Amino acid sequence: MEKYIKIILDGYYGYWNYLTSEILYPSWHNYFYWLTGLSIAVFALEVIVPWRKSQPIFRKDFWLDVFYMFFNFFLFSLILYNALSNVVVELFNDFLGLFGITNLIAIEISSWPIWGQFLLMLIVADFIQWNVHRMLHRVPWLWEFHKVHHSVEQMGFAAHLRYHWMETLVYKSIQYLPLAMIGFGLDDFFILHIFTIAVGHLNHANLKITYGPFKYILNNPIMHTWHHVKHLPSDRPHGVNYGITLSIWDYLFGTAYIPHDGENEALGFEKVEEFPQTFWSQITYPWLKKKA
Ligand SMILES: [Zn+2]
Ligand SMILES: [Zn+2]
Repeated sequence: MEKYIKIILDGYYGYWNYLTSEILYPSWHNYFYWLTGLSIAVFALEVIVPWRKSQPIFRKDFWLDVFYMFFNFFLFSLILYNALSNVVVELFNDFLGLFGITNLIAIEISSWPIWGQFLLMLIVADFIQWNVHRMLHRVPWLWEFHKVHHSVEQMGFAAHLRYHWMETLVYKSIQYLPLAMIGFGLDDFFILHIFTIAVGHLNHANLKITYGPFKYILNNPIMHTWHHVKHLPSDRPHGVNYGITLSIWDYLFGTAYIPHDGENEALGFEKVEEFPQTFWSQITYPWLKKKA
């Protein structure tokens, strides 16, 4: 028990030190400034070459989503995630230790070239995320949490990281074991993270981009707009275009749907106008709704 309390305290202390040093000491290996820099770069593109020209530059919920971005990326780790995940990983390892299992690695890839590891991590993690994302749409109680992300009515880069923190727990806990089995930690590969943030920002940006023939590999703003439309095709009531970074899974499994560019499609879901409007009310909504 004492061991776990120490892990929790070390988790808080370690993350607090990490966060303050990130902010105080800019460097090339720094999430805080990469996230800020990418956000400014994509925002600049939205201002210079906007897709929906009638949409205000500071669209509906712009500042709310900026807050979500820093909350989900940093503050949530500080408040809960870091300490919690350290405890869960330790509990899990202790549990496996009961059966004499000390090494989870099933495929040895540390001898692979770094680009091979990078590609494998991208493909495996993205495929798991695609499946989790489909589940968020199909399982009713998970959909209540995922609705926060789908309550976006005007798209812009910051909508990317507007989501309920429960999603972080769901995604990370499902990814942990398969990635550990190929010798990856959840937060390995700094460059991969930066790459997926850049693609995710662009997916939600007010930009008309499809990447030409690469659209069959990479998710893009037009494809992801259709993921957010209010009126789904009647034969696919749960959703379409579940891709996170890669679009390839939707093409392979028949969930891709792009009838036209979707510039003027309404976004959200049925009765989105009745959805709570503030951070706190959106975060508490899935639980309070049950009681109502
Ligand atoms: Zn979704
Ligand atoms: Zn989205």
